[in-house]
Amino acid sequence: MPDDQPRHPDHVPLAGVIGMPIAHSRSPRLHGHWLRRYGIAGHYIPMPVMPEHLAEVLRALPRLGFVGVNVTIPHKEAVLALADTVTDRAALIGAANTLIFRPDGKIHADNTDGYGFVANLRQNAPDWWPKAGPAALIGAGGAARAVVASLLDSGVGELRITNRTRIRSEQIKSEFGARLVVYDWAQAGNMLEGAATVVNATSLGMDGKQPLRLPLDALSPDALVTDLVYAPLVTPFLRDAQARGCRIVDGLGMLLHQAAPGFECWFGRRPEVDDDLRRAVLE
Ligand code: NAP
Repeated sequence: MPDDQPRHPDHVPLAGVIGMPIAHSRSPRLHGHWLRRYGIAGHYIPMPVMPEHLAEVLRALPRLGFVGVNVTIPHKEAVLALADTVTDRAALIGAANTLIFRPDGKIHADNTDGYGFVANLRQNAPDWWPKAGPAALIGAGGAARAVVASLLDSGVGELRITNRTRIRSEQIKSEFGARLVVYDWAQAGNMLEGAATVVNATSLGMDGKQPLRLPLDALSPDALVTDLVYAPLVTPFLRDAQARGCRIVDGLGMLLHQAAPGFECWFGRRPEVDDDLRRAVLE
């Protein structure tokens, strides 16, 4: 079928996730739950794709009936160069996690990680107010860039950032601007002073990794503390913050919320993020 033809009315939409490795991905369970719940005739498939095959795969998928895909490591940056259109937020973050294959054959790239991050906080800490005080972000990898974009967009006045490799936080400051303040990794505890929102965006604390250990003496019990790591759900960092009286929000909700815009575009229904979905993804 030529790329610019409308899809056949009997077309059953296909979507999926591309990455390498991909077996660990929870996205098939997540989208599968929504497809069953809403009785939608469609499929969501995990697909291992080698970097050298990425361009070829992206050309082939729409012809096979795919309406889009999620993108994970190691392709999140590379897909930007292969897309026909890129949202401002994906361009700013420098990575995409959601691709939409238009009926005219064009590939549209978006990044919904920052949206998922904020939506998780709004759902699980409804009185969270980003302008309440400075935010403190630990980490400067791909996920941290999405958090920076969304926190600045939410109106955070000062965003403090620290990273083991300092040059990466300097780089983020040079791209995202004057509201960022870089702290040295050795002084990370100092950036918690007066912080209203504290975020771990490193992989520390994941099952099988060392925990994130920061001196928490300066952490106010009024701060909201969240972690992008969701396995385990309550990381040692979250547990320490909770012991100081802070409200905590785990990272699973971010994963669930970042998936919703893609599902809506591909399958035509805005899905709900609720406890049933959490249970289905954790099973
Ligand atoms: P990434 O680009 O590889 O960045 C990893 C980050 O962790 C960097 O800041 C890195 O610091 C830091 N780090 C790793 N090992 C460290 C160590 N031993 N000591 C100090 N810092 C260390 O990964 P990413 O994509 O940003 O993901 C980060 C975490 O967020 C992962 O655990 C991922 O699963 C999670 N995540 C969750 C969601 C969600 O929906 N909840 C979405 C995206 C990501 P250096 O720069 O010094 O290496």
